[in-house]
Parts: sequence; structure tokens; C-alpha cells
Amino acid sequence: MAMLNCHCSDCQLSSGAPFASGFIVAVAATQVTGVPSSYTVTAASGGKTTRSFCGTCGTPLFAHGETFPVMSIRFPTLDDPTSFKPMLDIWTSRAQPWTCLSPAIPQHERSPSGGA
Ligand SMILES: [Zn+2]
Repeated sequence: MAMLNCHCSDCQLSSGAPFASGFIVAVAATQVTGVPSSYTVTAASGGKTTRSFCGTCGTPLFAHGETFPVMSIRFPTLDDPTSFKPMLDIWTSRAQPWTCLSPAIPQHERSPSGGA
């Protein structure tokens, strides 16, 4: 559905980086094999977000909120991460002042969907 960079505070904390990059897919279009570890936090939007990660190596895998039937899958989990091309930046109001934002893609101060 979309490939994006999220600059919200929660994505910064969970990724240990200035932003998290992922692609948005419908939950119904995905199948999770195995049992990831997870935790739930309050997102920048105020809603709950559940973040899943590999319990062995700690790699962030995906996240989903309680409001929309979509999930964000972290791009490094792709077989070919070079195919990831962000289409927009969200929560730029929370971006670190030293983060370089691309003028080539739309920027949203919050989430255009109201989610995290
Ligand atoms: Zn975020």
C-alpha cells in the first residue's frame, strides 16, 4: 500500500535510529510464520501500537495499530531491501533537527491516516 519513513518518537526508540522505514500492507494480505516477541506502546497518535521483533536477535519485524487493519513491515526484513523506495515521510514534526529529509517525496507533520 505504501513505503514510508516514520519519524515519530516511538519509531525512533524502537529502531534505535532517527526514523523507521517500512512498508504498509493489509493485515489480511500477510501471513506470519513463527512466533515473534512483541510489546504494546502508546503511539504518537495516542492509539496503541503492537511492535513485534525477533526474540533471538532483536530485529524489529513489524508493527500494527488497533485502529486500522494494516501493518508496517520493516524494510530490512525484505529478501532484497534495495527494492525499498520510500514514498513519503510521516511525523516529520518529531524528526531530529539533523535528519535530512528528501524534498523529492511528500512530508507530513503527522500521520496522514491519524495512526503511528
Ligand atoms: Zn512511527
